[in-house]
Amino acid sequence: MSNPTPIPAANFIRNIVAEDLAQAKNGDRVATRFPPEPNGYLHIGHAKSICLNFGIARDFNGVCHMRFDDTNPAKEDTEYVDSILDTVQWLGFDWGNHLYYASDHFEKCYAYAEQLIKAGKAYVDSLSAEDIRSHRGTLTEPGKNSPFRERSSAESTDLFHRMRAGEFADGQHVLRLKIDMASPNMNLRDPAIYRIRHVPHWRTGNTWCIYPMYDYAHAISDAEEHITHSICTLEFEDHRPLYDWVVENTAVPSRPYQYEFSRLNLTYTLMSKRLLLELVTQGTVSGWDDPRMPTLVGLRRRGYTPQAIRLFCDRIGVSKADSLIDVSVLEDCLRTDLNERALRRVAVLDPVRLTIDNYPDGKTEECEAPNHPQHPEWGKRTIPFAKELVIEREDFMAEPTKGFFRLTPGGEVRLRYAYIIKCTSFETDAAGQVTVVHADYLPDTRSGTPGADAHKVKGNIHWLSVDHSQTAEVRLYDRLFTHANPASVENYQTVLNANSIEARKECRVESALLSAQVGEPIQFERNGYFAVDSRDSNAGQPVFNRAVTLRDSSAKPR
Ligand code: ATP
Ligand code: MG
Repeated sequence: MSNPTPIPAANFIRNIVAEDLAQAKNGDRVATRFPPEPNGYLHIGHAKSICLNFGIARDFNGVCHMRFDDTNPAKEDTEYVDSILDTVQWLGFDWGNHLYYASDHFEKCYAYAEQLIKAGKAYVDSLSAEDIRSHRGTLTEPGKNSPFRERSSAESTDLFHRMRAGEFADGQHVLRLKIDMASPNMNLRDPAIYRIRHVPHWRTGNTWCIYPMYDYAHAISDAEEHITHSICTLEFEDHRPLYDWVVENTAVPSRPYQYEFSRLNLTYTLMSKRLLLELVTQGTVSGWDDPRMPTLVGLRRRGYTPQAIRLFCDRIGVSKADSLIDVSVLEDCLRTDLNERALRRVAVLDPVRLTIDNYPDGKTEECEAPNHPQHPEWGKRTIPFAKELVIEREDFMAEPTKGFFRLTPGGEVRLRYAYIIKCTSFETDAAGQVTVVHADYLPDTRSGTPGADAHKVKGNIHWLSVDHSQTAEVRLYDRLFTHANPASVENYQTVLNANSIEARKECRVESALLSAQVGEPIQFERNGYFAVDSRDSNAGQPVFNRAVTLRDSSAKPR
């Protein structure tokens, strides 16, 4: 089995890492980190960051730290932590023994803050949040110094200690860096680095009632962990001077550098965790792992593979240009992976009865079908042929349109792996809906027998025997949104696709499919790639999700 994990293409960040190694900037060390906030499930955008950070570590003989940014105790949950760890491993990456939490560094953050106060580089500000905002200035006007800015180090130290001791209410004081209230970069206008929050933390419990702000804690964590390349998305570009200020003005043990790349955005997809949480809490989807979600647990349940996602991350590349990637690129990566690896099976998703009138009652023949057309070594399975069959409703047309080469009254078609048949008649119900198609088979045309191909037909359709197949539920998915960029619409609710899921409970499948396992990639011939649903399947009674169709149909009107 070949595995399409590509050798990642060069990109500007990889080039920087290679150059730094060549110049021994950090000796021979490369250390990156992936720092999610445990306030939601990872999405396909995070996969881009994971593949970049862990991929660099892998390819440059370095390490990538798994680090939770747990500086915001109110929004975080261990449910998210567990899922994030599981998902990174599922994607195929390994942090070894480098699992960290920003909260591991809270004591260090505190100690460096004390030193900054002592050095006159930080002060406790007692302005209200509102006054701090109004002193901040705007992009075009400088800010104003706080009246507490020139407070003595001793007084700030005392207040900071009492903040930690829990003497003050939330919002009563903050600790700010003393940088420059007139800086054109708002992030340098005396940013707050500590705030009071009387909220228990899921890891540190009630040890702290003050918490460091992300920008500060992040820079300290990177430096404490001896990260060499701190890679983040472009919205942090303006924060880089603050990052540098923190590592240069504290006695941290190493000097990491920050590099930024552009976020992944996908068409027909919302990517922000906040909005994805909304979809879950409002019941628009069934959960974070709904197969229509762009979360990695959702994609996995849908039938996406780690190989396909890694291939996608490689194909889209890494740059500083804002990008909106067509979701068909992701879908195509899944096809590329599964075409190679998926077992072939037959399922009839919208069955209509086909009776072979000249075939003996009660007779069956075992027709052989390869498990994979390009892998003869994977062997064959048999599909029983009999008088009463089902075919796809759309493979028969009573009044064929031009160019329709499948079954039509009087027309001939090959039943894949079996005989050529000629349609003799059909029956309809009161509503005009076809209920049974009648045909005769041509005995000398059985696939695999000498001369079978002498008789030419244009169409080739799949089928199953009514008595030798099983009923199963199959779920077909479409995009969750009808608008290519739902984030750009004022209210994304107005562009939800009402037909994004279609559960078909009366599909017919090969009997062998009843023992299909979660995680086993399967192609239903002509119908797409499918996966066993991990949530709603029962033993011997799988529910199948369509991961992707066989061909890109996005050009067609939907
Ligand atoms: P969201 O806005 O979706 O909530 P986030 O940036 O707040 O995402 P974090 O948990 O902080 O999510 O992200 C962890 C890492 O993943 C960060 O380094 C972040 O830059 C990166 N990341 C998040 N979203 C994307 C994306 N769409 N494309 C690439 N990287 C991303
Ligand atoms: Mg975030």
